[in-house]
Amino acid sequence: EAKASGRGVSRFFEPGIESKLYARLELERDLRAALAAEQFELAYQPVFDLVADRVCGFEALIRWPHPERGLVSPAEFIPLAEETELIGEIGAFVLNRACADAARLPGDVRIAVNLSPVQLRTDDIVDAVASALQRSGLDPRRLELEITESALLEDNERIATLLERLRGLGTRLVLDDFGTGYSSLSYLRRFPFDKIKIDQSFVREMTTRSNCVAIVGAVVGLADELGMTATAEGVETADQLDLVRQVGCLEAQGYLLGRPKPILAAFELLRGAGSAKPTLPLAAVGS
Ligand code: C2E
Ligand code: MG
Ligand code: MG
Ligand code: MG
Repeated sequence: EAKASGRGVSRFFEPGIESKLYARLELERDLRAALAAEQFELAYQPVFDLVADRVCGFEALIRWPHPERGLVSPAEFIPLAEETELIGEIGAFVLNRACADAARLPGDVRIAVNLSPVQLRTDDIVDAVASALQRSGLDPRRLELEITESALLEDNERIATLLERLRGLGTRLVLDDFGTGYSSLSYLRRFPFDKIKIDQSFVREMTTRSNCVAIVGAVVGLADELGMTATAEGVETADQLDLVRQVGCLEAQGYLLGRPKPILAAFELLRGAGSAKPTLPLAAVGS
């Protein structure tokens, strides 16, 4: 009888939908296999301290080198992992690997890990973070947890308590993609963030729209007043970097400064930065 209703439903699908569904199922199957086979990798994008002209941290970004499809973008598979129950396991992998890698990096550089809104739906995330810290021995103050505004839409009381617990572990909380949510300012009022990452859409348009310069400048000033740091994301050109500096932003990240790269290349970058030569700009260093 399942067969009959299946056939009945499929008659209403537009052509192409079935093959899309099939492709999705296939991707989901591959995602499970990738977890089991530990196929995921992390790429590390440097974050620059614009005052000291040095690398002050890295953002861990997940990479999936698929055996047949090549590199699959997180923009494609993270949403799928969120719809299935796989994001918890993937998230735990990212936390464990990033903390272990960070613990081996020299100096006091920070490591930023992205948390999915789905990972914040239960309190399990507190144990996952605590366990990654404990296993790696990483100083919690070196771990930044990046949370996007979409995680904060609902259930404010519970999320606020959860974020306090994460912060209680000694980690720093970062509001990612700032300015793209529905109620960016109220999130700053309600939740205990240490850092704001200004979304790349604002940074990119600074060179063409003066209102974007004003917006980025205002966010930097706001962060400062609130005792937070602001990081400009997505800096791609020298002109953008100039403007970001001019409005007083203290940290920046983007292809101009460095692409996401394997841990060994991140390590090399830090060793290079130990020399007297200023490390900015690193255009064309690539990964
Ligand atoms: P995000 O956290 O905002 O990360 C920044 C994204 O912008 C990264 O894309 C990075 O490679 C890209 N980017 C950095 N600099 C530039 C630039 O100058 N120009 C442009 N055009 N792009 C730049 P990526 O690695 O493809 O990741 C996309 C999104 O996927 C991330 O956005 C994050 O939301 C999510 N993501 C990545 N890794 C993870 C992860 O481990 N866990 C979770 N839950 N989400 C992740
Ligand atoms: Mg991020
Ligand atoms: Mg971001
Ligand atoms: Mg983003």
